[in-house]
Amino acid sequence: MASTTLTTSFSLLRRYRSFRGHAVAKSLPNLSFARLPGQSPALLRSCRFICRNADEEAAAIAAAKVAGSGAPTIFDKIIAKEIPSTIVYEDEKVLAFRDVNPQAPVHVLVIPKIKDGLTQLGKAEPRHAEILGHLLYAAKVVAEKEGIVDGFRVVINSGPQACQSVYHLHLHVLGGRQLKWPAG
Ligand code: 5GP
Repeated sequence: MASTTLTTSFSLLRRYRSFRGHAVAKSLPNLSFARLPGQSPALLRSCRFICRNADEEAAAIAAAKVAGSGAPTIFDKIIAKEIPSTIVYEDEKVLAFRDVNPQAPVHVLVIPKIKDGLTQLGKAEPRHAEILGHLLYAAKVVAEKEGIVDGFRVVINSGPQACQSVYHLHLHVLGGRQLKWPAG
């Protein structure tokens, strides 16, 4: 199943890449796409319209397929220090490290060290209130350390319509340049 998902996602990605240079938002509704096994048409439609970037869309569709399983993600390996990352802040509850694909001069991810079911913000329950507050405060500490506390943005993508690609709750801390609004 995993390889099927991957193959189909790359196929989607290739088809989208062939449309680069066009007004993507206008082109996408005219395309017809094969649906992944077990994937709802609504999910595919949502990703097609909302995730304007081909790479983001393919990743979001693939990630959404396994999101409910609670399976370990790449962030578990980063927490375990099994794969390298550039850590900018750490305490007993959270880890903050630089995004591998930065969207701004400062782009740091802040994650809980223990997932406890928090695959995405949309799964938050009352017991998560403390860690959610801690994560937000850690984002401010990161902004201070990075010298952007006077102007920065915190983003949480939750679910496929927001192009979430890693199902371990994380805050994006972005800054170091003029950020536009509204976000895409
Ligand atoms: P999402 O799209 O789920 O909101 O954000 C996931 C983020 O994780 C992306 O910005 C992506 O660049 C980042 N990311 C994915 N894999 C890795 C990795 O192995 N290392 C680091 N540092 N960042 C990663």
